[in-house]
Amino acid sequence: MKRLVVLGAGESGSGAAVLAKMKGYDVFVSDKGSIKDEYKALLNQHNIEWEELQHSEDKIMNADEVVKSPGIPDTAPLIQHLKTKGTPIISEIEFAARYTNAKMICITGSNGKTTTTTLVFEILKNAGLNVSLAGNIGRSLALQVACEEHDYYVIELSSFQLDNMYEFKADIAILLNITPDHLDRYNYEFQNYVNAKFRITQNQTPNDAFIYWAGDPVISDQLKKLRLKATLYPFGDKNDGHNIAYLDNEYLIFSQPNEYQPLAIPTEELALKGKHNSYNSMAAGIAARILHIKKEDIRDSLNSFAGVEHRLEYVATVRNVRFVNDSKATNVNSCWYALESMRTPTVLIVGGTDKGNDYSEIDELVKEKVHTIVYLGLDNDKLHQHFDSLVPHVIDTHDIETAVKEAYNAAKEGDTVLLSPCCASFDLFKNYEDRGRQFKQCVKAL
Ligand code: ADP
Repeated sequence: MKRLVVLGAGESGSGAAVLAKMKGYDVFVSDKGSIKDEYKALLNQHNIEWEELQHSEDKIMNADEVVKSPGIPDTAPLIQHLKTKGTPIISEIEFAARYTNAKMICITGSNGKTTTTTLVFEILKNAGLNVSLAGNIGRSLALQVACEEHDYYVIELSSFQLDNMYEFKADIAILLNITPDHLDRYNYEFQNYVNAKFRITQNQTPNDAFIYWAGDPVISDQLKKLRLKATLYPFGDKNDGHNIAYLDNEYLIFSQPNEYQPLAIPTEELALKGKHNSYNSMAAGIAARILHIKKEDIRDSLNSFAGVEHRLEYVATVRNVRFVNDSKATNVNSCWYALESMRTPTVLIVGGTDKGNDYSEIDELVKEKVHTIVYLGLDNDKLHQHFDSLVPHVIDTHDIETAVKEAYNAAKEGDTVLLSPCCASFDLFKNYEDRGRQFKQCVKAL
């Protein structure tokens, strides 16, 4: 009997353990932290041996194969030890994919993954396909493969998951963009991170699709160096003769690759606003067209999509002031896209845990659209230094309630108050979801 050790008993690890057990492996689960009660119950229900708060090497080093949670870095001593021994280390997605013939639509990128993954899922579901969500969002792929039957999986993949994928093949791969992120996990070498993202194309054949943003210089450079076998579906700002989807005079156009009829949707009708979201809509729409979803269904889904919480999420309009929650904008680039999508004068709430940010990327948009910045953080010094001279008004706050009240007071009728912090949330909040929810509560209490 082959022994499979699962390191990390979160959503993906416990799912992998259940699938492995059902496939006849000798399974052991080890987590250095504490395991949530729901996962302990799942493991117990399947008679799977587990430990928490430690890694017992004697029960781990005898593994034939290891499934590693994406949260555990390669530099962890145990991982180094396993590598030296030559034990194969794979991700949960890699493991689960061995046991299903479902079509895999996989999405990666530095920004926009969750939005695009959800959008693809909604289009396919609304069109009546037997589809499910997996990866970074939704339930573990392995557990679904173990207990359910689906024809399609739409999977959000982080670079960490891709790091431990080798045989896996995406039928449709989407790469949205690549900007520097998580470099601490990539030896501070941007190219390592780029390579991880491009693993989404590995094993693809000409029957498979690679959808990507052609306007991204990093992706274009990398494509020059690689010879991908997949069929390429680029999208971008304009009709350059190559782009399968592009913008033209306030329309989002899906051109006519092969047998598909062109499709034109007024950008005004798209549910998701802003240039970044038109890219997300292009990527999702191309995937749907490759799967032969009807034009009307694609259009209806793109126009009715409710969006994802904390991503440019409309909250409420109070006395003609619109409030938008973009708490997930934890880096400067996401805030750039949020500001780019603003169509009214804006009061911007920024701040939090600074990850070495260079705010100059948003200077021009701030000057053009923002009349007041509300700083929201434990330590706002860097924000003062950078923005005080750029906008007419700045306000210093250290709690969300005051920030919302001050932003509301500063806003004029017709303005938008935008929470798009550029920063992580850990100085004042549990996480970005907590920050977004508190923001919404404060707005509703106005
Ligand atoms: P991810 O899952 O990759 O973190 P999300 O869909 O959660 O991405 O969006 C995170 C943030 O990135 C949002 O605040 C949004 O404004 C911004 N964003 C969304 N799509 C894009 C895109 N295509 N390019 C750049 N930024 C984007």
